[in-house]
Order: sequence, then structure tokens, then C-alpha cells
Amino acid sequence: MALNSTADIVSLPEKHHVYWTDDIAPLPETHTSVVSEADVVIIGSGYTGMHAAIVAASHGKTTQVLDAQTPGWGCSTRNGGQISGSVKPSLHRLSKRFGVERAHAIRAEGEASLNWVEHFVETNNIKCDFARNGRFHAAHTPRHFDKLVTEAKRLNAEENTPIKIVPRHDQYQEIGSDAYFGGVVFTHHASLHPAKYYSGILQTALDAGVRVTGLCPATSIERSGAGFIVSTPKGRLKAGKVVIATNGYSGNLMPYVQRRVIPIGSYIIATERLPRSVIDRLIPSDRVISDTCKVVYYYRPSPDRSRILFGGRVSANETNPVTSGPKLQHDLCRIFPELKGIGVSHSWSGKVAYSFDELMHIGQHGGVHYAMGYCGSGVGMASYLGMRLGQQVLGLAEGKTALDNVDFPTRPFYRGKPWFLPAIVGWYRMYDRWQCRQAQRNSANGEAGRFAEDASQTVG
Ligand SMILES: Cc1cc2nc3c(=O)[nH]c(=O)nc-3n(C[C@H](O)[C@H](O)[C@H](O)COP(=O)(O)OP(=O)(O)OC[C@H]3O[C@@H](n4cnc5c(N)ncnc54)[C@H](O)[C@@H]3O)c2cc1C
Repeated sequence: MALNSTADIVSLPEKHHVYWTDDIAPLPETHTSVVSEADVVIIGSGYTGMHAAIVAASHGKTTQVLDAQTPGWGCSTRNGGQISGSVKPSLHRLSKRFGVERAHAIRAEGEASLNWVEHFVETNNIKCDFARNGRFHAAHTPRHFDKLVTEAKRLNAEENTPIKIVPRHDQYQEIGSDAYFGGVVFTHHASLHPAKYYSGILQTALDAGVRVTGLCPATSIERSGAGFIVSTPKGRLKAGKVVIATNGYSGNLMPYVQRRVIPIGSYIIATERLPRSVIDRLIPSDRVISDTCKVVYYYRPSPDRSRILFGGRVSANETNPVTSGPKLQHDLCRIFPELKGIGVSHSWSGKVAYSFDELMHIGQHGGVHYAMGYCGSGVGMASYLGMRLGQQVLGLAEGKTALDNVDFPTRPFYRGKPWFLPAIVGWYRMYDRWQCRQAQRNSANGEAGRFAEDASQTVG
């Protein structure tokens, strides 16, 4: 079905907005009731919660997962499926805060998360289109290309990261667009089908004996002796240990985490089916793509190369998929003008969780365990830290991570409502647009040749 107008998108039932769940078998069946007592109660059934649950149940613990919505309803079935190094702050920035050795260890957790997802998928034979197809990170101005080249050389020298530099004159090998000024390829980054991946995780958890109950919000957590009482509309649960895995959907259940994560909407569309020849021309290399804009775009072909899935942040204020769909379509056509007139069949969104220091956080507060704040890069990290969280709950030595005991910062007067976001996003979007226009104008005037046209090489 091709949709061009807002009215068409409105008429789609809510469920059909997410492309990923359209083309897979229904998720494995879960439970409708809760147990009255469990060794471990996990609140939130996304990648974080389910991976923690798998570890707990595999070690013989009775494990109950609760979700306010249906299992997997959060980001974990509706993301872009890109898996990168996941740790946003640079080695230099982390070194200033933690010292060089710890900074290296934190950065290494990012690589560990990518490797671990691959290992988990292989071990559990999950058919989720996992592929190490690499990520093309495109420069939206010549200056950003120069910065990417410098950064690539530094990353390779300091962290051994394999990177291919792609100057503008070679960029058509990666992307059929003139919107960029070259870029770099992180050749070891990966992608997967997020809902198939989730389905495999859920099945693995059920096989391990985890009880998963949807439509069952935890409404309070109280201390009770050495454990806790978790209240839900389906009953009160006695819990030995409690894990909070609510990330961008963290409400006031635990004000400590609500004051530390910044929920931000991320929006995606899927185009209608496109001829294979068009996809092959626009994204020939099958890589996932992101760019250097402050308000980043991320996009990729669908795993069957029948559509383009295009995501980003389209407005300063939070909006809904009906409004964001046409805006994303407009931005997609700015990058690929030949897609003008192409319909959008799916438009959806979800809430990611940023933290004030751009790091993900794992720890305990008041005896309750948590992991969250993946800053939009949680496919690898939520899975990996969820697994480590499960080990920490059991007190296992291998649960230790370089992110343990990192201060989880908040800001005065912040209570989980990011009132400052519209101003910041609005400014960045304006700045990005101005830079893009300026770069394209200079390029048209023949000034783009000054940047490193001869930089084509692979480092690492
Ligand atoms: C549009 C979009 C695109 C993205 N693209 C990428 C990408 O390409 N690569 C990448 O690495 N990351 C991406 N992400 C981010 C990634 O999907 C998330 O970081 C990751 O899925 C977080 O997993 P989680 O388990 O921590 O949280 P979620 O999967 O969001 O799960 C949290 C769950 O907690 C539940 N919950 C909340 N409160 C309660 C309560 N009181 N009781 C019970 N349950 C509760 C919610 O219902 C929800 O199901 C994207 C996210 C979005 C929205």
C-alpha cells in the first residue's frame, strides 16, 4: 500500500505503523497472569529486561518479567537495527573524566556489546538477518569530512578500529546522493532485523523458564525484609531482587532513574516497495548509513532490499508518526531527489533515553538494579548490559563492567520532563540546515575541491 498523505497514514491501525512487525510471525505467546513470588522480578520487557531475565532463569532463579504494554512494545521491536560501537564520548573525553586506562575499558565495552550480540544470535540460532555489513558515516560539509578523516586515523591508532575513508569522488560506491562530502565506513559495524531479534530473545527466555506478563505495569516497589513487594493491577509480587529496565519509558516508579534519563522521541518511516534497481543505485553497498549532522539521520535498506527505512528527529517538539512521516519523507527526498513522489507505507516512533553525560548506566539504587541511558544506541548495549545486569543480580564476578560505579548525573530541578529539549533541537536543526545549504552552495561554486579528495584509504 502506498501512502502519500497524512490522511492515509492516520487511517492505518496503530500496529501497522511499525514496519518490522508487519513481515514476521506473531511473537511467541506469553503469560496473562503473574506469580505471587519470584526470586527476580524485572520491570520492562525490552532487550535489557529480557537479557537480564535469561541469565537469571538460566541459573535456576524463578524469574518474572512485567511490561506495562505487550512484551517488546518499547524501542526493542521498532528501532533502526543498526549496531555500532555504542559508546558516544570519545576516548579523549572519557580519559579526562576517568583516566586513560578506565577510558579504554569503557570504550571496549562498546565493542564487547557488538561482539556479544553476534555471539548470542549465533549460539541461539536466531534468524534475524544479523550482518556485519558496516556503517557509512557521511559528512554533511567538507569541514566535517576533514574532521572524520582525522578522527578515523586517531581511532585506528588508539583503539585499533578498522575504518575505510571514502572521499566524495568515491562516495557513489556507498550512496547514490550528492548531499554529502564523503565519509568513513566503520567496516565492522552490523545490522539486524530488530523484531526478529526480539522474537528470538523472547523465545530463548521462555525456553529458559522466564514468565513474561504483558499489560501489567508495576505501580510501586516497596522494601519488605530482605526483598521487595512489587504492586501491579494483576497482583502483588514478593521479589527477592528487582530490576528496572524501562529506559526511555521510565515513569515515576523510581524517581531516582526518572531524574537521570532524558526521554527523546526518535522517528522512522519505511518507503513503499521500490524497484531493486533503485535500491541498488541509492544504497549499493548494503551498509547502514548515518551522518555528521548534530540532529543525525540514520537509514538503511530493509533486510530484503525492498524499501528504504529512514529515521531521525524531525521537529524540535515531540510529535506523532502522522506528523513526522511527511517531514521525514521530505528530508529523505532532499538526500535522494529521485524518490520525490514515492509513497511512505509506514511511519512510527519510540522513546530513546539520553543521559546527561552521554554514557549508558548500570548500577543499583536502594537495592534495585537498573541499566539504561543508551543514548539512541541500545541494540547492542541494552542487550549486553542486560546480560551483565542479570549476572550482577546473581552476584557473579563476570557481571563486572567498566561502567560500574560511574556517577549517574542529573541536573537541578530536572524531574524527567526535558523542557530544554525543544530549544536545543530547534537550534541544532537550524544550524545543520544552514551548514548543509552553505556547503552545497560552495560546492556548486567549485570550492569543494579544497578538501581531501585524495584521502581514499583504509586504516586498520
Ligand atoms: C525509532 C528508534 C530507532 C532506533 N534505532 C536504533 C538503532 O538503529 N540502533 C541502536 O543501537 N538503537 C536504536 N534505538 C534505541 C534502542 O532501540 C533502545 O536503546 C533499546 O531498544 C532499549 O531497550 P530497553 O530494553 O532498555 O528499553 P525498551 O525496549 O524501550 O523497553 C522498555 C519497556 O519498559 C516498559 N515499562 C515502562 N514502565 C513500566 C512499568 N512501570 N511497568 C512495566 N513495564 C514498564 C515499556 O512498556 C517498554 O516496553 C532506536 C530507538 C527508536 C525508538
